[in-house]
Amino acid sequence: MVGKLATLGLQDLNVRHAMETVERHRFVDTALQGQAYEETSLPIGLGQTISKPGVVARMLELLRNGRDGRLGRVLEVGTGCGYQAAVLSLLAHEVYSIERLRGLHDKARDNLRMLRVANLHLLFGDGMAGFPKGAPYAGIIAAAGGGVIPTAWTDQLAVGGRLVAPVSVGTGAVASQALVVIDKSTYGLQQTVFEAVHFVPLKSGVA
Ligand code: SAH
Repeated sequence: MVGKLATLGLQDLNVRHAMETVERHRFVDTALQGQAYEETSLPIGLGQTISKPGVVARMLELLRNGRDGRLGRVLEVGTGCGYQAAVLSLLAHEVYSIERLRGLHDKARDNLRMLRVANLHLLFGDGMAGFPKGAPYAGIIAAAGGGVIPTAWTDQLAVGGRLVAPVSVGTGAVASQALVVIDKSTYGLQQTVFEAVHFVPLKSGVA
């Protein structure tokens, strides 16, 4: 899989190593395990999906922004099956990952139990409010896309921190999503829009 990622343009060796280490097949249903190392998104239950490896790699590469070593504290919105959270735990000192669907929060806990990841904190709640107790974050990464980036996220981002999220652009028939990066500096927020992506919707409340 990581060999394929190199052909997709993954350059960050830290991301490559982390993705080599975490076994993606452990996070999907038995019937889908044969496809776990394909460049494809896969269903994880409750209508949600785990992103293609290339998209996970791309977002993590953007989040790291070519830094040396690990990031400090990182917030992930949308734990899903816990795969990306496990990869993040190798790239950051502390990871807080929040999920709004109880069923997936529990599933991620089960999937991650064997891995015993001490620096990963799984939270159940509405990630649109971020997680103030862990703030400020060196990085925030969202696995679900909304129309606007919640101000809670940029408020909880550290100065010098970076946020990576899918955001909807346009409406109706021309609606699509793009990957957006926000950098926070002492001068304020700077937004950069990258390529089109397809993520599940960011929803408020818990279920
Ligand atoms: N990173 C995940 C991808 C999961 S898909 C993985 O590796 O499996 C995105 C997830 O975001 C879904 O599980 C969805 O329930 C969740 N989500 C959507 N809106 C949310 C919100 N406001 N707070 C927390 N999680 C949310």
